[in-house]
Amino acid sequence: MQKIAVLTSGGDAPGMNAAIRAVVRTAGFHQLGVLGVMRGFHGLIHNEFIELNPRSVADIIHRGGTILKSARSVEFPTPEGQASAIRNLREAGVEGLIIIGGDGSFRGGMRLQAAGINVIGIPATIDNDIPCTDYSIGFDTTVNTVVEAINKIRDTATSHERIYVVEVMGRHSGYIALYAGLAGGAETVLIPEVEADLDDVCQRIVAGYKLGKAHSIVVVAEGVGGNFKTGRSLDESSAFRIGNYVKAKTGFETRVTVLGHIQRGGNPTAQDRIVASRMGARAVEMLREGQGGYMVGVVHTAIRATPLEEAFRQEKTMDLEFYRLAHILASQ
Ligand code: ATP
Repeated sequence: MQKIAVLTSGGDAPGMNAAIRAVVRTAGFHQLGVLGVMRGFHGLIHNEFIELNPRSVADIIHRGGTILKSARSVEFPTPEGQASAIRNLREAGVEGLIIIGGDGSFRGGMRLQAAGINVIGIPATIDNDIPCTDYSIGFDTTVNTVVEAINKIRDTATSHERIYVVEVMGRHSGYIALYAGLAGGAETVLIPEVEADLDDVCQRIVAGYKLGKAHSIVVVAEGVGGNFKTGRSLDESSAFRIGNYVKAKTGFETRVTVLGHIQRGGNPTAQDRIVASRMGARAVEMLREGQGGYMVGVVHTAIRATPLEEAFRQEKTMDLEFYRLAHILASQ
């Protein structure tokens, strides 16, 4: 094997650059050439290849985002889009492709694998919603960003004895809300995996007040709306609806903060950099061994490979013990 390519696809996640660096430098160690594909599958179709060498990935290990840019491609799922991507890869002499992204990107990767190009996926998404790996690149950084925001909100919440509803990312997955809620000491965590009863939330807030709590923080994943017993209005975010409901029901002053895109950026944490480095290196080793059609993941601290299709066929399950624990610790 002489040449491989790497791309980032789907939503960006802090730590993608550390993974790119690990791919390029592991390849360099083995005298393998690496092409970077700009803008994910869009760049594959439109021949946006750049040469990468160990020096071109200097000074990126600590940066969020991705130097290769990321994009969503409506052309790639079409037969013409895939034919163009495969032709470009072959013409460039690429013998293996590493895709850093989420489950949609891995579905795309399977198409290339079926056409005979060895593909290895590296899970990178702040939502941590990819099965067959305990961990996706970017999740730890995002949780730390949210915890830092909760710490700050806590200061003002205590000073004014208010309720704060904090909306975090996670349309289908409550991982960010749950981990940040547990680490941030939130009184209530609302996640899409568990049906929310807003009257319970209000009762918990009132009980906390009677115990002498100076404030209450409710962390809400943006996707909880569909599970509300109180109905859903599509033009209003979950957090605002919850805030209004809680205010009306308890009479406490309530404020809402939607953290938004700050959750995607920032310097990756040490954990994200280390996992990205390990996954990037393993992905290159697997291609060198002639393997393709796998996702590398972390399972009980070890790097493990799983067939790519498992990574999008299975549902990631959530350990609801975390959910129980967050509420037990915050209810006293
Ligand atoms: P995130 O979880 O951050 O959204 P993702 O990798 O799941 O990341 P998607 O937007 O779902 O992001 O997928 C990225 C790209 O992968 C799409 O723009 C599309 O080009 C390609 N893709 C997704 N699903 C398929 C599919 N079934 N077949 C071929 N290509 C696909």
